[in-house]
Amino acid sequence: MPENNQTILPAQTIGIIGGGQLGRMMAIAARYMGYKIAVLDPTPNCPTAQVADHQITAAYDDMYAIEKLTDISDVVTYEFENVDLTAARYIEEKGKLPQGSFALEVTQNREKEKSLMREAGLPIPEFTIVTNGEECKTALQNMAYPAVIKTCSGGYDGKGQIKLTSKNDESTAIEFAEKNKHCIIEQWVPFEKEISVVFTRTQTGGLEIFPIAENTHKDHILYQTVAPAIISEQVKIKAIQAATVLAEKMQIVGTFAIEMFVKGDEIYLNEMAPRPHNSGHYTIEACNISQFGQHIRAICGLPLMKVELLRPVTMVNILGEDMEHVLRMMPTLENGSVHLYGKDGRKPKRKMGHVTFTAATSDEVSKLVMNYEEEK
Ligand code: AMP
Repeated sequence: MPENNQTILPAQTIGIIGGGQLGRMMAIAARYMGYKIAVLDPTPNCPTAQVADHQITAAYDDMYAIEKLTDISDVVTYEFENVDLTAARYIEEKGKLPQGSFALEVTQNREKEKSLMREAGLPIPEFTIVTNGEECKTALQNMAYPAVIKTCSGGYDGKGQIKLTSKNDESTAIEFAEKNKHCIIEQWVPFEKEISVVFTRTQTGGLEIFPIAENTHKDHILYQTVAPAIISEQVKIKAIQAATVLAEKMQIVGTFAIEMFVKGDEIYLNEMAPRPHNSGHYTIEACNISQFGQHIRAICGLPLMKVELLRPVTMVNILGEDMEHVLRMMPTLENGSVHLYGKDGRKPKRKMGHVTFTAATSDEVSKLVMNYEEEK
């Protein structure tokens, strides 16, 4: 953790580990301010490289490349949580990783993540950790169905997890645990809504929370985010309180996201991401500062902007299979900002971009989204 607030000013260089869409949107926000960008990614001309000054084309855990990135950057950040911890600690020791390595260590591992939440007294689904098939069998004897078994590391977008609906799924779960070893079994929460709280914290403890957003997934991939979320005042208070507790406990620096389930007036924390999040893309058009702009301010030691939601908003992801539709719609698209990430290859389910719809009222936003969807 940094001991003092290091100020990085334009045109100093921000290094980004990972060259996907999150890095790209961070880079664009930083470029508006006049910073230079260096990116480390194994794919030449990756989405971030297209808007950066330098690309180091190498594997994320290539220590020579990490040293080079650290050397040419005044501050380093990352766009995903699976940053090699040795690499993160190296940059931290050089005094160039204000976010530190602790948040990465926790969010890379569901056991550490859920244990930390529990230790902080926050509401989470009941869970058990298992390390093989035998332990899984024992754990399931004490667990009500439905439940879900997830790998403790490496899962994303629903990959690396299986829902266990009834005792009939027991053998599938045992096989899964035997194959993946370190797993978490969670009680299934019959939630009504999924929400996310995206916030930014500075190196000196300044905290700004974006409006709570409501998320819909399709095939485990985020499909749509609506802000502000339609939730009770109690849920809102609980969600903000949970985010504040975690921000402090983990001494977060930068933009950070927490996904939660809502059931009645209760919340259950699901996952955390130590970086800007897909469900925060709406902030680019709908807030006075985006999650990316705020992130850059935090890692550069600048004060945060006070967040305001300017208009109701819905963000819809564009996957590979939606590309044709979006391009066909663009010439007539009303109040929809299209963002394409510059990725080659339109693979189904691959996130290629997003569209953000804003209007004066939520009803008008819904109509715009409906119109966009109907034309599909
Ligand atoms: P995760 O990778 O943990 O974010 O899970 C992906 C998705 O699976 C979530 O967005 C939920 O829709 C669903 N899910 C995961 N865990 C649970 C749970 N304990 N109860 C209900 N739904 C869950």
